[in-house]
Amino acid sequence: MAASVNPDRSQWDVIVLGGAAAGENAAQYATQYSGLSAVIVESNLLGGECSYWACMPSKALLRPVEVIDAARSLPGLAATLDPQAVLGHRDTVIHHLDDTSQVDWALQSGIDVVRGYGRLAGERTIDVALPDGTTRRITARHAVVIDTGSRPFLPDIDGLPAALPWSSQDVTTMREVPGRVVVLGGGVVACEAATWLRGLGAEVTIVHRSTRLLTRHEPFAAAEVTDELRRSGVRLLTGRSATRVQRPQAQATGRGHIRGGEVHLTLDDGSELAADELVVATGRTPNTTDIGLPAVGLTAGGYLHVDDHQCVQGTGGGWLYAIGDVCGRALLTHMGKYQARIVGEVIAARATGAGELPSAAQGHRGMPQVVFTNPQIGSTGLTEQQARDAGLDIDTVEYDLAALAGTYVMRPDYRGRAKLVIDRTDDTIVGATFAGAGIAELVYAATTAVVTRIPLSALWHVVPCYPTASEVWLRLLETLRQQRTDRER
Ligand SMILES: Cc1cc2nc3c(=O)[nH]c(=O)nc-3n(C[C@H](O)[C@H](O)[C@H](O)COP(=O)(O)OP(=O)(O)OC[C@H]3O[C@@H](n4cnc5c(N)ncnc54)[C@H](O)[C@@H]3O)c2cc1C
Repeated sequence: MAASVNPDRSQWDVIVLGGAAAGENAAQYATQYSGLSAVIVESNLLGGECSYWACMPSKALLRPVEVIDAARSLPGLAATLDPQAVLGHRDTVIHHLDDTSQVDWALQSGIDVVRGYGRLAGERTIDVALPDGTTRRITARHAVVIDTGSRPFLPDIDGLPAALPWSSQDVTTMREVPGRVVVLGGGVVACEAATWLRGLGAEVTIVHRSTRLLTRHEPFAAAEVTDELRRSGVRLLTGRSATRVQRPQAQATGRGHIRGGEVHLTLDDGSELAADELVVATGRTPNTTDIGLPAVGLTAGGYLHVDDHQCVQGTGGGWLYAIGDVCGRALLTHMGKYQARIVGEVIAARATGAGELPSAAQGHRGMPQVVFTNPQIGSTGLTEQQARDAGLDIDTVEYDLAALAGTYVMRPDYRGRAKLVIDRTDDTIVGATFAGAGIAELVYAATTAVVTRIPLSALWHVVPCYPTASEVWLRLLETLRQQRTDRER
């Protein structure tokens, strides 16, 4: 039977609740070689946050800002940036918020799609509230996978909800660039948004309660981004919190539109700020409050705890799984998709009785991430602090990326740094961080080393091309050898 949208059917082998990229992968991996059937239940757009309101639009907005900055660093190039054209390109990248191509992919892969909002109603049972107001009960023979994701967290600040601030969904799909913007927060989303807003011409102020930005990253990398934000004209008010927000002429103008008149913020040091728009980027909260968790003996709200097969703990029976942001292991698309591949194979193996159950433990050891600020931060594995907190016996080594021929030809004013964290017990890399222009592509090699625990002795034989930024690997090995020799003297 060909797959379809809202088919007249009430049972599948696998139900995926939430159709983000991870959910699509889970359905695909569960069905492709097993003969199992699957349906994805999605209340909004198939593809989820990443495709329309997160990774894809943000990177479409950041890339022109990065390119023009690089062009300005090289003689002979006269580039200009047209903000409206950039917004138009962003719209193309997010398919004008139309999920037809993703629905087509699902159907061609033999996966049914039900459009509606689903809630667990019992073991292997979901009640779907359909757009026409009716409710339909569907059941799974084998498994239910929760991929309902997360939403922006709104801090408890007097007057904030009434001011109708922008969330990450608004700032990624903005229809116009506000003149003056205050960004609340200092994590990845806040720093990336400040980068593209400033690059597209806005006056940007970041208000962040911690004294430094990007606190989960190596301090040297966070400092590189902080310096560059400042240099580009972003005003940084760190170590300060907003205590009150006022917007007398707030208007519900719709997603991505400026929400009425001026916003006024009072900070905890008594100072005042005024802006044309306020972006709240103060973290995420999982979508678990209204998905029927009590019907299967779980508490509503909070992250879903999973084991290394991504099986939700506390339900019994090995039928309920969770992937992506909702399980809180790593709030990143590629990690959610990795969990989805594992889950799909676990479900297929359990249903068919064939093959071993794969585990998601090894991949989480690497957990790569790129922060697409200017400069970028790329990291995998542990920071030095995390390794020390875990009680590892470590060496660390750093190298100046600007000292490489490869980065010099990229841009003569290159600034950046690399750092490795090495477990001395087996001389393998347990963490790596790079900060610099164009370093995103260095992360995969680092992740390979961390996940597969390649000994440093083997890395000496992995020859980097000249002149590329990858030569940093050789320089890091040489520097580490020198450090160790100096220590022994
Ligand atoms: C601005 C921004 C930029 C980002 N950039 C990157 C990046 O560059 N790289 C990266 O790896 N990560 C990035 N992230 C993080 C990434 O977007 C998330 O980790 C990822 O989208 C999480 O995917 P998910 O599978 O958990 O579900 P989500 O993408 O959150 O999607 C969940 C889906 O479930 C649906 N749903 C929810 N409840 C129900 C229900 N009850 N019934 C039916 N459907 C339901 C929703 O409509 C939604 O489509 C970014 C995040 C933000 C905010």
